[in-house]
Amino acid sequence: NASLSAADPDVAAQIALEVNRQHEGLEMIASENFVSRAVLEAAGTVFTNKYAEGYPGKRYYGGCEHADVVENIARDRSKQLFGSEHVNVQPHSGSQANAAAYMTLLQPGDCILGLDLAHGGHLTHGHKLNFSGKLYRIVGYQVRKDTEVVDYDELESIALREKPKVIVGGGSAYPRQFDFARMREIADKVGAYLMIDMAHFAGLVAGGVHPSPVPHAHVVTTTTHKTLRGPRAGMILSKQEFAAGIDRSVFPGQQGGPLVHIVAAKAVAFKEALQPEFATYAKQIVANAKVLADELAGHGYRIISGGTDTHLMLVDVFQKGILGSEAESALGEAGITVNKNAIPYDTNPPMKPSGIRIGTPALTTRGMKEAEMRVIAAWIAQALEHRNDPGKIKQIRAEVLALAEKFPLYSWLRK
Ligand code: PLP
Repeated sequence: NASLSAADPDVAAQIALEVNRQHEGLEMIASENFVSRAVLEAAGTVFTNKYAEGYPGKRYYGGCEHADVVENIARDRSKQLFGSEHVNVQPHSGSQANAAAYMTLLQPGDCILGLDLAHGGHLTHGHKLNFSGKLYRIVGYQVRKDTEVVDYDELESIALREKPKVIVGGGSAYPRQFDFARMREIADKVGAYLMIDMAHFAGLVAGGVHPSPVPHAHVVTTTTHKTLRGPRAGMILSKQEFAAGIDRSVFPGQQGGPLVHIVAAKAVAFKEALQPEFATYAKQIVANAKVLADELAGHGYRIISGGTDTHLMLVDVFQKGILGSEAESALGEAGITVNKNAIPYDTNPPMKPSGIRIGTPALTTRGMKEAEMRVIAAWIAQALEHRNDPGKIKQIRAEVLALAEKFPLYSWLRK
């Protein structure tokens, strides 16, 4: 029973380095966050050993009495948090949640109408290399060229023409709120189901700073690890009429045994999300994003759609002659982690796109507020301007480290 560092120093060393990397840099990838010590502890427990195929009270294995209690706690807290009639907390990931939702609502070959990947959608909303594009007929909708927000009139006309069986809202790089009521109206008009993938903004919904898709959509899918700040996994919320179908599609449809340790960690995260402090955190995420977007615009950067209502923004760096890939690596050198991202109607290829995506959830979790966002925006502008000047980049990195030290992360895990 050797400790990890004694049993496997190679892996232990990389974990220690990763703890330091997360502490020393500024994590601005919009889909990432830092879970609490309690969530981390729950994820690293002996529940990882347990097979619990099935659902509480109806398992295919013995010894599930504690797993049952934990899964019921997770389900109850999620229902309370989102006001959903039914919830399935077993999906291992957001992609598997989407696969199970489609399996419930569609037959292979049926049509899905989702936001184009190039306009902010997700791979699982219809991409030819993803299961969604291989199993289903995919039709995309887009944002308007002038406003860079979803054009609901166009969405309606595409829906009337293509008669999709499911309309999907939500995405990975869309900085604005979706109009759930309008989308439901369109879905009803063409006899489609409305599915909202709230993976990115679930924490904002939980914190009451973003409209909830739950009253409008037939099915809502999500990841639990982004703004919601739980472990890396997925979840499905639905109306009662889809409850049995969703449960069957998750298990045995898509998965075998649930990751009970991760279900336990989800339960802990949902308890945190039910506390008043979570609403304060969610509000601060959006306030931080607005300030950051305004400041970057003040430094001369074009923000896609003119700003943000959420936790993320897309910045057109190519307008200043910089590729998204160059920006990602210059900022990375400076200790600021973001990702290159296509912008709507991008004329550059996906690996060298025109934009970067920046998010505020992780820094907000660290306790950073508007004042820090202003400083960080200035560093981003300087690092991009001086991207070919290693001395300047090094100087910014030192300043980044000094700021990071003021907002310590996982101090009990660092040597
Ligand atoms: N849906 C959306 C909108 C996402 O942004 C993501 C991940 O980025 C997913 C689904 C997939 O989640 P996972 O990476 O857990 O499969």
